Amino acid sequence: MKRIAVLGSTGSIGRQALEIVEKYPDRFKISALVAGSNAELLEKQINKFRPEIAGLYDAGKIASIKEIPQGTTLYTGENCTLHALENCDLALIAISGFAGLKPTLYAVKNGIDVALANKEALVAGGELVIAAAEEKGVNIIPVDSEHSAIFQCLGFDRKKKFKKLIITASGGAFRGRGREEIEKLKASDALKHPNWDMGRKITVDCATLMNKGLEVIEACRLFGVGLDKVKAILHPESVIHSMVEFDDGAIIAQMGYPSMKVPISLAFTYPERIDVGVQGLDLAGKSLNFGEIDRETFPCFSLALKAYEMGGIYPCVLSAANEEAVSLYLQDKIGFYGISDAVEYAVNKFGKAEADEKTLYAVDFEARRLIRERFDI
Ligand code: NDP
Ligand code: MG
Repeated sequence: MKRIAVLGSTGSIGRQALEIVEKYPDRFKISALVAGSNAELLEKQINKFRPEIAGLYDAGKIASIKEIPQGTTLYTGENCTLHALENCDLALIAISGFAGLKPTLYAVKNGIDVALANKEALVAGGELVIAAAEEKGVNIIPVDSEHSAIFQCLGFDRKKKFKKLIITASGGAFRGRGREEIEKLKASDALKHPNWDMGRKITVDCATLMNKGLEVIEACRLFGVGLDKVKAILHPESVIHSMVEFDDGAIIAQMGYPSMKVPISLAFTYPERIDVGVQGLDLAGKSLNFGEIDRETFPCFSLALKAYEMGGIYPCVLSAANEEAVSLYLQDKIGFYGISDAVEYAVNKFGKAEADEKTLYAVDFEARRLIRERFDI
């Protein structure tokens, strides 16, 4: 029986993870559930899965939780994510944003294997996370679909030798449109992703192509290579989730119906594969297309790569400024290109510094403050 702590259980990834657990009660036990502020759903989940530990980040919402089982201890506030890691075999980090870094580092430092959906943790603090994982011999299992695809193409061996990683990008909701048109579109338009049903922040990141930039950084960190070994290409159908090229020129691709249940379940059971109700693909009559990313129309992609090249705290600045700007865009307080402007502005405001843990928390805080100040909010 694998004991799994689900951090971010009320989100898109978290809910799908719980559906998998529900289907295989003899294989998995939920040791902990953590949410941000959705107390109503968390309460339902607690009563269904009866974990030993539950966490609600937003202490102000605690009154909405009326009844939980006797065997469950409920924590609130930031440290609930750390309490949730007691006594588990695997931590699924499905919290969105920088808030995922603290529990990820804590899990790794305490020798707990991590199924990592949260990419911001690896972007902002990847050097720390990977170094701690090496030191402790902890597995970091990618849940992001592209990185899971690469992990599968490498035969579930993150250290296997390869020539190049080819990461596919759907292009997001605004693919193929020009700058002038995009400028007029609202967050509600960006939220209409053509192929995937995900949380709001990542769906906007897909529309700006920041998501692809973050994923290139994530790949560099996870698979221990530089930017020269990672290529992102446009693939509108989202049938191929990513590919690996080897020294002999062979390219292995992972394909399938776009469902996050595949990477989530694999993170729980690999190398074994289980049926999680995902349909197969009939490729007859279908065509697969590939193209270059339009870096002019979607400047966030290049900004991400540049921040990674600059190193140190810059990926953290990029990710924090982006998170804050996306939140403002979602509230219709800034436009689409306000996001890339904000990110560029923030990156230019910081001097070079090493990315130690304390510095990262301070940098995240300051980058967000700068963005709110810039837009006078
Ligand atoms: P959602 O916004 O749907 O869910 C986020 C979850 O995190 C919710 O349960 C939320 O709680 C919780 N949460 C937010 N802030 C905190 C906090 N400070 N403390 C504790 N819990 C918190 O996001 P997704 O599920 O879409 O994405 C999660 C992560 O996975 C992201 O980093 C994303 O980039 C990555 N990812 C997602 C994919 C997807 O298909 N969705 C694909 C690949 C990667 P509440 O509901 O109460 O707000
Ligand atoms: Mg992805």
